[in-house]
Amino acid sequence: MLAEPTEAEWAAAVAAVRAVPADGRILLICHVNPDGDALGSMLGFAHGLLRLGLDRLQATFPGPPEVPEPFRGLPGLELLVPADRVDPAPDLVVCFDAASESRLGTLVDRLDTAGTSIVLDHHASNTRFGGINLVDPHAAATSVVVEQLLDRLGVPLDVRIAECLYVALATDTGSFRFDVTTPAVHQMAARLLATGLRPGDISRRIFDTRPFGAVRLYGDVLTRARYEPEAARGLGLAWTYATRDDLTRYDQRPYVLEPLIDSIRCTAEADVSCVVKQVGDDEWAVSMRSKGGVDVSRVAVALGGGGHRLAAGFTGRGGADDVVAAIRAELDGAVINP
Ligand code: AMP
Ligand code: MN
Ligand code: MN
Repeated sequence: MLAEPTEAEWAAAVAAVRAVPADGRILLICHVNPDGDALGSMLGFAHGLLRLGLDRLQATFPGPPEVPEPFRGLPGLELLVPADRVDPAPDLVVCFDAASESRLGTLVDRLDTAGTSIVLDHHASNTRFGGINLVDPHAAATSVVVEQLLDRLGVPLDVRIAECLYVALATDTGSFRFDVTTPAVHQMAARLLATGLRPGDISRRIFDTRPFGAVRLYGDVLTRARYEPEAARGLGLAWTYATRDDLTRYDQRPYVLEPLIDSIRCTAEADVSCVVKQVGDDEWAVSMRSKGGVDVSRVAVALGGGGHRLAAGFTGRGGADDVVAAIRAELDGAVINP
């Protein structure tokens, strides 16, 4: 198990930011297919750098430069630059919420071309691919690490920073429901709310809004859900899949499928749940969850991905049935609480 960042690592990160001259160029990168923690941590840190007078800033993520609708209200989106147009050799690059280089896609070369690189993350599986690594596997979200770094840089929270970090924290704690929701998480939320945020508005936008087409699409996809009581040495597996045809039929964008896992993981009879989402002809983005019986990050890592003990994912190949067969085969060996 990784430890939290050492004082030397914090000091190195602070020094690396302070070493950037006022006209220095900084590139912020979050993981492909960004979620609330990736985008919120990145943009929250961006606002902090702006407060330090560092304004030659670009923020980006690999893949299509489309921000999922729920995050289009985040302050700082104007800093986003499409991946194929970002600075080829910035003075400093900072990566957010990416457990490994593979999550940076085509942008991975910036780790070599940049003067210095800092990795901010909270995945236990993090491969420490930065020049400086601030990885805290006990942190509920990458935004927890961001808040600490901003504090050490002497940047006070303001409402823009706070909104970004709140979206990140709320996303990764499942709206303050998961076991990662420690007293420290609520204390951080209190600091963020004290800047004047409106949590009701933010939650409605981020979690409780979807197009009517997506509501109907969920109907189709949930109808084909399967429950396998024998899987994971009898702990049970619930799963479903969604194809690109499903999205086309209801004229929906892929991001509407992100919350689908929540409609599967509620299955009372199953410890493990997964959703297999088509992203290419024979390529699937896989989301897995466990209630504690299985370490799904083991399954994900074995199949080329990563994540946390109770929430993990990977990219699967073949048909949806092939992908689920590969998961089924790894589940027995990943049981931690039979
Ligand atoms: P998701 O199901 O997309 O919400 O992802 C759950 C967790 O798994 C997150 O912590 C992700 O960082 C991780 N994860 C998802 N997909 C991948 C992947 N292809 N490679 C590595 N980690 C992943
Ligand atoms: Mn993430
Ligand atoms: Mn995260």
